[in-house]
Amino acid sequence: MKKYSVGVDLGGTKILIALVNKQNGEILCHVKKKTKKQKGSENIMKKMVEGIEELFAESKINIDEVSSIGVGAAGQIDRENGIIIGAPNLDCFNIDIKNFLADRFNLPVFVGNDVEIAAIGEMKFGAGRGCNDFVCIFVGTGVGSSIVKDGKIIYGATGTAGEIGHIIVDLNGRQCACGAHGCLEAYASRSAIETRIEGALKKGRQSCIKDYLEPGKAITSSMIQKSIEREDELVIQCVTEASEYLSGGIASIINFINPKLIILGGGLIEAVDYFYQKTIKKARAKSLPVPAAKIEFKKAALGDYSGVIGAAFLEERVL
Ligand SMILES: [Zn+2]
Repeated sequence: MKKYSVGVDLGGTKILIALVNKQNGEILCHVKKKTKKQKGSENIMKKMVEGIEELFAESKINIDEVSSIGVGAAGQIDRENGIIIGAPNLDCFNIDIKNFLADRFNLPVFVGNDVEIAAIGEMKFGAGRGCNDFVCIFVGTGVGSSIVKDGKIIYGATGTAGEIGHIIVDLNGRQCACGAHGCLEAYASRSAIETRIEGALKKGRQSCIKDYLEPGKAITSSMIQKSIEREDELVIQCVTEASEYLSGGIASIINFINPKLIILGGGLIEAVDYFYQKTIKKARAKSLPVPAAKIEFKKAALGDYSGVIGAAFLEERVL
């Protein structure tokens, strides 16, 4: 068996590429590039190729020892054909990554989405190790999830299973980027919290988060955390509200799927422990008593690297 595989995590802000030892999940070498989606999809593809070339050059690994390249992208994927159907955060539409990379590196290429690869990473070497039935939920710019059953990802009939961000939590609620109204993502993501905070600031509410804001830049999870540490009333209110919605969404998942474990990850969970603790406590309280008594919660363990590690194992996937 070939010992190594390349994992690529194609995200909205950065492209992370790693050479992974499949026996122990160790990252031998990694390369990071800025995505810069405004420069278009061709530029992203070019950077990805450059990054993989740098990885091979730096690691000095013989390509004969590498079994495949796995790519996870933030968007809708045709897994069978290895095509990015639509990734608005990358400005990539109908991109045949599989053939593009296979032609250049003469290796088998497997393509999945960003949440799927992060869940595989956590299952193999992170918080899901040793557990075959769990749900991974990632909270950042959006809210995404992946369902693992008997050690395999559940894809659903059209490959979109696990879209927890678009379960409806308010019938006449806020408009979501997907076009529907009242989706969880419009209430519980970092972007949703950001919109709430900005709206309140415009109306004249005071908040110490102003000390960290820079014109034209997003409110980051770490700014939210710093404001909570300073007991900022507005930020605590907006984060508490988001956790109220997220815990409702998670309780629905607990009741519907009855998993053994829920792993929570993503920028907001990692940076803001208040949000994590509040959410899991309320999710348990809102679930039916029998599953609530058994459900276990864990924070994702691999941080930024869950995606590249998981992508390296896309080759094991059975569609
Ligand atoms: Zn939606």
